[in-house]
Amino acid sequence: MTQPIAGDPTLVRSCPAPALSVCVYCGSRTGDAAEFANAARATGKAIARRGWRLVYGGGRAGLMGSVADAALAAGGEVIGVIPKALMGRELGHDGLAELHVVDTMHERKRLMAERSDAFVALPGGIGTFEELFEVWTWLQLGYHDKPVGLLNAAGYYDPLLAFLDQSVVRGFVPPAQRKLLQVGTDPEALLDRMTALARPGRARELYRQI
Ligand code: AMP
Repeated sequence: MTQPIAGDPTLVRSCPAPALSVCVYCGSRTGDAAEFANAARATGKAIARRGWRLVYGGGRAGLMGSVADAALAAGGEVIGVIPKALMGRELGHDGLAELHVVDTMHERKRLMAERSDAFVALPGGIGTFEELFEVWTWLQLGYHDKPVGLLNAAGYYDPLLAFLDQSVVRGFVPPAQRKLLQVGTDPEALLDRMTALARPGRARELYRQI
């Protein structure tokens, strides 16, 4: 990235791309194949290696634990946000830079969104689906303008993607809304797309109006 030098528009200095805070939504279980945990670990490691920050649900259970532990092992900063009622079930992680223990699930999701510049969903269950669809609808409604991505590890989301395409064909989802969801199979390539679309520090955020 380059920036003009004051007083001389012909000169530019290169400056490092700003560090992104990436919110990862993923399963509190590990699924039935090693590829899921591998994808979670690859994502956590890639975020940390870029000097970015991981924001996630704050637990040690399932893929949530895999992504956080991989980011921590690679020297990354990890922020967790967990409702106090889930500290036992999702095993609140005690090795994070920040663990916010909040009163409600709504508070958790809003704080995670406020602390992030981009969102990526990995394989997971209904909690992950709900978080992905919520942040995607918030984008579509203009409550924020941060990129939303889906990592389709091991083809897990193939049926969902086919259904989403069908929902466009059947006239319930405009093509422009469908295109707002960035889909990839490789964590590094998907994170590259997030970098290109994210606007750290300049994003529009109206979460408190939701
Ligand atoms: P899951 O994908 O079902 O394993 O859940 C992944 C994460 O989503 C967990 O941290 C859940 O606490 C969280 N989550 C967020 N919203 C919900 C919700 N409405 N119902 C269940 N879990 C949720």
